[in-house]
Amino acid sequence: MIKAIDIHKNFNNLAVLKGISLEINKGEVVAIIGPSGSGKSTFLRCLNRLETIDRGTIQIEGDLLATTGPDGKIHYATEAEARHICRRIGMVFQQFNLFPHLTVLENIIEAPLVVKGVKPDDIVPQAEELLRKVGLAEKRDSYPSRLSGGQKQRVAIARALAMNPDIMLFDEPTSALDPELTGEVLKAMRRLAEEHMTMLVVTHEMAFAREVANRVIFMDNGEIIEQGPPDVFFSSPAHPRTKAFLNRVL
Ligand code: ATP
Ligand code: MG
Repeated sequence: MIKAIDIHKNFNNLAVLKGISLEINKGEVVAIIGPSGSGKSTFLRCLNRLETIDRGTIQIEGDLLATTGPDGKIHYATEAEARHICRRIGMVFQQFNLFPHLTVLENIIEAPLVVKGVKPDDIVPQAEELLRKVGLAEKRDSYPSRLSGGQKQRVAIARALAMNPDIMLFDEPTSALDPELTGEVLKAMRRLAEEHMTMLVVTHEMAFAREVANRVIFMDNGEIIEQGPPDVFFSSPAHPRTKAFLNRVL
């Protein structure tokens, strides 16, 4: 599904990603954890073409988004190819970025209408179904300003799903929320996982990583330090840096 090989990324003189390789298979739920500044968001953004890379290869379902050529230069897919490739990837951020002037339903149907040219008659029922799925059917005609943070984030999830992505990337989707609102968002994500959506989730929610992920990855200082199935990862981490991190957060 997603194949990242030896991804390097610098911001000016700062090496933020130092050779990240990661393959995610269809239906897998992968959680990335790690300290602030370790490069988790940057890595996700590279997968979605929101950031350029300095070295490495990114393949989405066999299609090359970027790769280092024999000349050492990065070769990117053309703008049109990249748009087509990245359409298969949905992303949910910490900040929900809903359109304030559109209702919940309008937020969800906007991209399919504009980007994909889907007909309203086709997309509205699908959007309503997605709203039911995230438990917000009754908020269909509300504006974002009338929603709680947890509700906004569930709309953001429904909006990403409306594009029918093959994989969903989540970047700390609950960390801007009050603790009592995180549960409803995690529940919506858990439901997606149960439906075998392929998911890559950067999260501070260790319970979610432990219970929902098939694989947990620990990133520190631009590198993948350790990874494994959650039961092994949390009960017997091998690397001292993983142990130190888990001691701090658990
Ligand atoms: P957090 O858990 O706090 O979200 P993170 O693991 O997501 O952290 P990143 O946001 O990927 O970390 O940042 C990694 C490093 O890259 C940090 O040192 C950050 O300051 C730096 N960085 C991120 N974006 C930029 C940018 N656009 N320009 C310069 N430096 C940046
Ligand atoms: Mg981040």
